[in-house]
Amino acid sequence: MPLYSSKYNLYKKVDKRLFVFNTLTKGLIELEEDYFQKLKNNKIQELPSEIIEQLLNEKYLLKESYETDLLFVESEKKKYTSEILSLVIAPTMNCNFACPYCFEERKTSIMSNEVITLLIKFIENKIKTQKYKKLSIAWYGGEPLLGIKIIEEISKIVLDLCNKYNLEYYSNMITNGYLLSKKNINKLLELKVKTYQITIDGPPEIHNKRRVLKSNKGTFNVILNNI
Ligand code: SF4
Repeated sequence: MPLYSSKYNLYKKVDKRLFVFNTLTKGLIELEEDYFQKLKNNKIQELPSEIIEQLLNEKYLLKESYETDLLFVESEKKKYTSEILSLVIAPTMNCNFACPYCFEERKTSIMSNEVITLLIKFIENKIKTQKYKKLSIAWYGGEPLLGIKIIEEISKIVLDLCNKYNLEYYSNMITNGYLLSKKNINKLLELKVKTYQITIDGPPEIHNKRRVLKSNKGTFNVILNNI
């Protein structure tokens, strides 16, 4: 039976340790260099059978049809049963932090006007053609607060659409918390962004080595104060 490495595997070296993160299952595994390279380069036949078995069980390694089947079932389920239109939007992939373990591609660009227009058209079209009762947006990045003007622009239009089509609206944000100033939080609450996921990597002496600004300065006190 043909086996292949999951296309959802991300391969990352952190301080000489080698990790594979699967974005579909959210699984994380540490591997020896030899196994890491073989999985990454799809040389599955050269892996020992007990490693193959473990990687198969945890879905880093797949029998050909698994992922497409899973995605098909999930998308069909959503199409026919969901009353919620859920979107995850990254206004930018840029970030003000330089965490050593970060696997995001930190591109400095922000969402263009053209993409905003297409996104709004997409949302309105979905609302008009399917019977959603709720719309939910999760803001994500990079650091989404570097794109707060875009969040404001999209949120205002989406709130109007929800009024027009009588939909409940929910919004949350995954942020490093550094830019959650009073001014920004007041603006976000007006835009109905009501829940926040903020990462603290432990007590200050640990957090300040891992969650650092690009200048390498620690961020613990600012984040805690903002929270
Ligand atoms: S805050 Fe998040 S996106 Fe930014 S560098 Fe750290 S892990 Fe990466």
